[in-house]
Amino acid sequence: MTSKSRIQNIKGTHDLLPVDTVKWQFVEKIIHKKFQQYGYSEIRTPAFEHSDLFIRGIGDDTDVVSKEMYRWTDQGGNDLTLKPELTAPVVRAYIQHQLGRKSAINRIYYMDSLFRRERPQKGRQRQFNQFGIEAFGSPYPEMDAEVISIAYSIYEQFDIKNLAVRINSIGGTEIRSPYLKLLRDKLIPVSKELCKTCNRRLGKNALRLFDCKNPNCQSILDEHAPFISDHLDEDDLAHFNSVLSFLDTLEIPYIHDKKLVRGLDYYTHTTFEITSSSLGSQDALCGGGRYNGLVEQLGGDATPAIGFAAGTERLMLVLENLEIEDKPDIYLVLLGENVISTGIKLADKIRKETRKSVILEPSRRGMKGQMKEANRKKVKWAILLGENEMESGIVQVKDMITGEQKDVPLDKVVSYFQL
Ligand code: AMP
Repeated sequence: MTSKSRIQNIKGTHDLLPVDTVKWQFVEKIIHKKFQQYGYSEIRTPAFEHSDLFIRGIGDDTDVVSKEMYRWTDQGGNDLTLKPELTAPVVRAYIQHQLGRKSAINRIYYMDSLFRRERPQKGRQRQFNQFGIEAFGSPYPEMDAEVISIAYSIYEQFDIKNLAVRINSIGGTEIRSPYLKLLRDKLIPVSKELCKTCNRRLGKNALRLFDCKNPNCQSILDEHAPFISDHLDEDDLAHFNSVLSFLDTLEIPYIHDKKLVRGLDYYTHTTFEITSSSLGSQDALCGGGRYNGLVEQLGGDATPAIGFAAGTERLMLVLENLEIEDKPDIYLVLLGENVISTGIKLADKIRKETRKSVILEPSRRGMKGQMKEANRKKVKWAILLGENEMESGIVQVKDMITGEQKDVPLDKVVSYFQL
């Protein structure tokens, strides 16, 4: 690379330009508000963690850990990973700061960037953003219903069409090994027809077979695999049925998807995804579930928990036609070098004493150029300050929508905008 060649962003990452961030901020504000409405408080965890957290937390035979982590050894010999998901870091923080001892129930939310070395495509990036929640402390189905309903109501609020809640239960750990034995017994006779990864998983972590994207493997599963939700014990089944009945109460439509086991090892009981057919092949808006064993597995007290993570880029894709623009309130037109000092003071006062936003001319253009810029910025008002106005002590305030122009004494401009 010569020193003059242009450096580009890394494949699978995206710049959000100002025309984008104005939409993101609008959307994020609504999501913050929604989470807070349900009593959730925000957490922010570091961008990188010890690799072990993800290996132990997510499971070493998951796609995320086995193929997708940005993992490196730093100069001090520490094995580190850029966070590929947020449940494990939030659980780590929950244990480390003893949040469970301070309060029996902890409702936590996040909005953050994640990193996975996946094959980039529409709706699939290597750095992407998620918003989500983790609710610690309740084993009861009303908490499952709350978590699902928060996700659902966010998408409803944005008026997203073609939504589907797909839900399943994979039960507690007690039923896992007899079920896995049954699954292996049914699939080993047809294992030659399964892909290499499925064959490896069949021996080691057979539930992960359901994550395989190969259509041939999926049709073998359809034909031969028993479904875990048909093997729940009485308590797990009662829990699942209660979750469904609470969703009925909340009038949230759902589909029982018996193959939905979710791609990470920590899930127990309820698993769910919300999809929208408006998204095309990467149709998952969000996914989540219970993880009653994870806190203990990572060294904390046994604590039931449930959460979801939602892709922000996927939401923005569905909201492609959202029209939000940054429009400052006032453009301060400055004509002549001698008015600059008065102008910057006036802009400063308006910003401090009113809630209006003011931008001022920084390029010393003529009147025509500045008015053109004011129009381009779609401001509501332009204030014209030239040497004549300085002398007379009266500026002109132009309403850019009606075109009406008013004389306003310089010392009354601030109060004029204290509407
Ligand atoms: P997961 O953490 O894999 O359960 O994903 C939860 C949600 O995050 C998905 O439903 C997607 O909306 C989003 N997501 C996951 N991976 C990516 C990615 N590589 N790029 C963009 N969004 C993603």
